[in-house]
Amino acid sequence: MKITDLKCAVIGNNPVVRINTDEGIYGLGEVEASKSYLKPHVLFYKDRILGQDPTDVERVMLNIRRLGSFKPWGSAVSAIEMALWDIAGKAADVPVYKLLGGKIRDRVRVYNGAVRFPMAPARSPAEGGRPPEDYADNMQRMIDAPQKFSIIKQGLAFHGGGITESPKHFYGTHQAGPGHANRGPLSERGLNYIVDCIRAMKEVCGDEVGLALDLGPGFLVPDARRLAQAVEDLNVAWLEDMLTGDYVPYVSADHYREVTQSTSTPIHTGEQIYLRHNFQDLIEKRAVDVIGPDPCDIGGIAELKWVAEYADMHGILMAPHGVLDGLLGLAALVQVAATLPQNYIAFEYPTGHPEWWYDIVTGLPDPIVVDSHIDVWDAPGMGVDLIAEEARRYLREEDADFFD
Ligand SMILES: [Mg+2]
Repeated sequence: MKITDLKCAVIGNNPVVRINTDEGIYGLGEVEASKSYLKPHVLFYKDRILGQDPTDVERVMLNIRRLGSFKPWGSAVSAIEMALWDIAGKAADVPVYKLLGGKIRDRVRVYNGAVRFPMAPARSPAEGGRPPEDYADNMQRMIDAPQKFSIIKQGLAFHGGGITESPKHFYGTHQAGPGHANRGPLSERGLNYIVDCIRAMKEVCGDEVGLALDLGPGFLVPDARRLAQAVEDLNVAWLEDMLTGDYVPYVSADHYREVTQSTSTPIHTGEQIYLRHNFQDLIEKRAVDVIGPDPCDIGGIAELKWVAEYADMHGILMAPHGVLDGLLGLAALVQVAATLPQNYIAFEYPTGHPEWWYDIVTGLPDPIVVDSHIDVWDAPGMGVDLIAEEARRYLREEDADFFD
C-alpha cells in the first residue's frame, strides 16, 4: 500500500487531516480547535510521506517526527500519526487498540474539562474578583451533568482570571491579551483567595467527585509550594501546570520536582510537551505525580503509549489532556486509553464544537459518556468516520475536494 495524498480541511475550527492510499483506504486525524491556522503546517509534510507504506507507521514517522516541536508545532505530526494508525487498522481489519498491544480495559474513564455552564458575571478586581460561592455553584451544575463525571477540572489563578488583574492578589505586572501570558508573585491575599475557591468547590464535591485544578502556567516556585501545601487537607485530584504548561516550550523539571517533593498534593503537567525525550527529565526525576500528554500534541497515540509505560515504571500516573481534540481526537483518545497501563486515571473528554459536529461523525456511541466512562468500540481503525454528504456543507471553498 502507498500513500497517494495528504489533505487538510479546516472544519469548524478543527484542522482535519486525511491521508489517501492507492488501495482506496483513507485515514483521518484531527488537530485542536484552537489551531485553525495549522493547515499549511500539515501540508508541509506532504512531500515527506507520499509514496510510503502507511501501515509501516513508524517508518513514515521517522521522516517527519524530528520536524515538529512543543505545542502548537507538534500538532500536525500528531494528526498525521493518527491518520496512519486509522489506515493501518482498517487495512488489518482490527481496531487500532489491537495494533498498540491490545486493550486492558473495555471502557475508559474520562474526566470533565469541556462540559461547561455559564458562570455568574465576575466582579471587578477592586471588589476582590469572583466570589468562591460562584465556583461552588458552577461545580454543582457540572456534578449534576448527565455524564456523571467522577473527576471534574476547573481553571483558577493564572488559568482562570480574577487574580492577575488585581493588585491586591498579584504583585507582578499584569499582561493583557489572549493566552496565559502572566507570570509572577502572588500576594498572601491572592493565595488565600485561590485556597478559598478550591475549598468552596471541594465542599460540593465531597469525596464523591474528584476535583482537579488547572492553575497556570505562571506560578513561581515558592507560591506553588505554598498553595500545594495549603490544600493538602482537601485531597484534590491534582494541581495542573502551575509552573509551565500550555504554550510554554520548555519543562522546568527541577522546579517541578521541588514543588512535588514538598507536598502530598498531586502535581500534574505535560499537555504541551512534544515527544518522549521531553518527558524524560520529568519522569526520571519523578518531578511530578501525574502527567497529561495530549495525543494531538505529543506526536501521536503510539508516542503517548510509550510515555505512559515509561511513566508507570517510575510511579507516575496518567491523565491525558484532550479538551479541544474534537470528535476524531476523541476516538484516538479512546483507542489509546484502552491500552494504557494501570497508572491510567482518566482522559480529558473533548466535545464537538459547533454542535453540528455530532451530525457529521459516525461511529460514536450514543450517549457517548455513561457514568464517567466510554465503552471501547470494535470497528476497524479508529472506528469513526466523517459522513461526507453531511460534512461537505461545512467545508470552506478551498477545501471542496477534501473527500475526493
Ligand atoms: Mg491544562
